[in-house]
Amino acid sequence: TADRAMYHAKRSGRANYQCYTAALERETEGAFLIEARLRNSLRDGGLQLHYQPVVDVKSGELIGAEALVRMSFPSGTDISPDKFIPIAESSGLIAELGKWVAREACRQHKQWAEQGLDLTIAINVSPLQFRHQNFADTLRDIISDVGVDAERLEIEVTESAIMDNLDEAVAILNRIKSLGMRVALDDFGTGYSSLSSLTHLPIDKLKVDQSFIRSLENDAASRSVTDAIIALGRSLNLEVHGEGIESENALRYLQEHGCDQAQGYWFSRPMPALEFMRWYQQRRQNPVPT
Ligand code: C2E
Ligand code: MG
Ligand code: MG
Ligand code: MG
Repeated sequence: TADRAMYHAKRSGRANYQCYTAALERETEGAFLIEARLRNSLRDGGLQLHYQPVVDVKSGELIGAEALVRMSFPSGTDISPDKFIPIAESSGLIAELGKWVAREACRQHKQWAEQGLDLTIAINVSPLQFRHQNFADTLRDIISDVGVDAERLEIEVTESAIMDNLDEAVAILNRIKSLGMRVALDDFGTGYSSLSSLTHLPIDKLKVDQSFIRSLENDAASRSVTDAIIALGRSLNLEVHGEGIESENALRYLQEHGCDQAQGYWFSRPMPALEFMRWYQQRRQNPVPT
């Protein structure tokens, strides 16, 4: 029986191994296809930005938009940025992608401002892009090239990207701030911030991670974390922004607890620029009571 057990173990081990390599191959092939698609999209203008409204919690007014990059296969299947941003990082395409995003967001800001819609546009920056040698210089060049007001631009960087190497991060943030841009810490509450280091960070805003907001209604711990972040923001003189608001109850909670800004499907999903403008105009004609 020992022999038999060994025999089965070997067989199933091999089967697992084969199954594992097949999955790995599929994944490598998938990553390869996505990288190729990214290269083509960067070359042929195949990328798009969508914009998600950011609303002032007290007044209910539209005050900004987060720019979110979109890419799809020729078949029309969307590829999530959560999937292709890491591939852009590992394949050395992130700098080029980041430049395109920043330039396009600036161009859109300017166009909207000319149409009377003067929003703060938030631009996501990946950890690697943030650490890239000339990141701040690149931003400066794009801003002056396109001709936008730097104060209307907000850089979103994740908490973990900053805490990885705090001294370096502070230097980069200082350069971004010296250009006049705003800085927000994205997905806040999920990383490993040392609270004392937060007091030295040249930032303007904390974005409470969606995971807490989404479970506000049924999880006391999420409410505690959200309350704590709002209190922290208050005492450090930072704005606090809740993202992932999907219900009126979540919005109500943030209102009652002094959160400054809100964003989420409750207001709208991210939209292409034209649709965003239509959404804004419609909302202006039929104001939503808050
Ligand atoms: P993020 O910056 O935290 O962006 C918020 C994500 O949550 C977006 O997903 C948005 O569509 C989604 N979202 C917003 N409201 C809700 C809601 O109420 N419910 C739910 N379930 N989801 C909501 P998206 O567009 O797929 O982006 C995912 C992530 O990819 C972003 O997370 C960001 O880290 C990254 N990303 C997106 N665009 C860019 C970009 O241009 N550059 C870089 N470096 N990263 C980007
Ligand atoms: Mg973001
Ligand atoms: Mg976020
Ligand atoms: Mg995120």
